[in-house]
Amino acid sequence: IQYGPWDRLDDNKPFVEGYGEKPAVCNYYPSDITAEEFDAFAVPDKDSWYTVLRRNEDGSLKTVWYHEEYAAEVAEMCTLLEQAAALAEDEGLKNYLLKRAEAFRTDEYLESDLAWMDMKDSRIDFVVGPIESYDDKFRETKTSYESFILLKDEARSRELTKFIAMLPDLQKELPCAPEYKTFVPGTSSDLNVYDVVNYAGDCNAGSKTIAINLPNDERVHQMKGTRRLQLRNAMQAKFDKIMMPIGQLLMDSSLTEHLKFDAFFWNVTFHEVAHGLGIKETINGKGSVDAVMGTEKTSWEEAKADILGLFMVCRLIEKGEITNISVEDAITTYIAGIFRSVRFGAASSHGNANMMCFNYMGKSGAFTRNADGVYSIDFTKAKEAIDGWANLIITTQGDGNVEFAAQYRKENGNITPELQADLDRINEAGIPRDIRFIQGPEILFGENK
Ligand SMILES: [Zn+2]
Repeated sequence: IQYGPWDRLDDNKPFVEGYGEKPAVCNYYPSDITAEEFDAFAVPDKDSWYTVLRRNEDGSLKTVWYHEEYAAEVAEMCTLLEQAAALAEDEGLKNYLLKRAEAFRTDEYLESDLAWMDMKDSRIDFVVGPIESYDDKFRETKTSYESFILLKDEARSRELTKFIAMLPDLQKELPCAPEYKTFVPGTSSDLNVYDVVNYAGDCNAGSKTIAINLPNDERVHQMKGTRRLQLRNAMQAKFDKIMMPIGQLLMDSSLTEHLKFDAFFWNVTFHEVAHGLGIKETINGKGSVDAVMGTEKTSWEEAKADILGLFMVCRLIEKGEITNISVEDAITTYIAGIFRSVRFGAASSHGNANMMCFNYMGKSGAFTRNADGVYSIDFTKAKEAIDGWANLIITTQGDGNVEFAAQYRKENGNITPELQADLDRINEAGIPRDIRFIQGPEILFGENK
């Protein structure tokens, strides 16, 4: 789980005696490299996602491609990929697996990324490769190998496609003045739902992701966009083991019936969808929202996705499109979700966004906290707060009002001492920090029933 002696779920503190702080360079670079030495090393592939830096015998630096550094492992992976390709029934999957094996051997991933983008019909998905660079704290470029084996949830994916087709109509219903909602959202976004069969390598280390948005190569974004995968059973595990107990601890017992996995699933999924809604160009000639919002861009965009995601879920329930949860379920589960998200702090843009949403709702009377730190919800006020907050965000973005945005975030983007005391109770109650998977061939095939 940790892939080393440092606790990934506790700021990488060493948990094995004799180890100090985790080196920022991991094993991607020589342990004694300095930023000055790196800067002076004039080799084009030094910042490649697929090279490590090593020392020559005379102590000078050199780059080594992953397929050379890890030749034995790469050979083994390629053999397995080719065996899998021989068994694959879907042509797209077969093509991708073979191109991926070639990519492993050459560290040229573009062709196989494009093959993955074209692999739209396969019910089995296999995301594999050196993909994310979260561990490289020195340059944030070196990737780690990982793999996900996934099965497509075709019923949920179809439902999602149907809802995405409704985005242009939902955009028109946004609770803001007409001039702020002239943008026409796309309806072709590639967003599907999967169940996870196996996580391995980087993605199985430390905190478990519940959604994938790949590939990372911007050349592929230009040519074919990205594919987004929502990982349903991983979400369910986090809901059952973490979110439900948090909600039960911090919310009035009458709200327990409104804490529902399906509400969590739709809220999280529509957060992703909501990035494609709202306003992209300022209405006063200041240019694109992204460019003008500067330092406020990410936190306000995340806050927008959060609240418009909830807005859409509520609208789709009212229209009778989402039928397995109520508006009360969506709102209750949304607020419990904020407790889960900010439990370990709100210093990031995402954390700031969560807290701006939470504090807006609190000030609007959407919820109240009693002296024991137990929360109750006023659903009428909560619905008004969703509209009011969505309007404020879209208007701020559309006006490109970065001064207001910065001031507002400063005042409302942080965890209050009161809330911090409640979050401390979550940790004292021993609610898990993350989930761990019990997985592997013995689980899949071990019991002959
Ligand atoms: Zn987001």
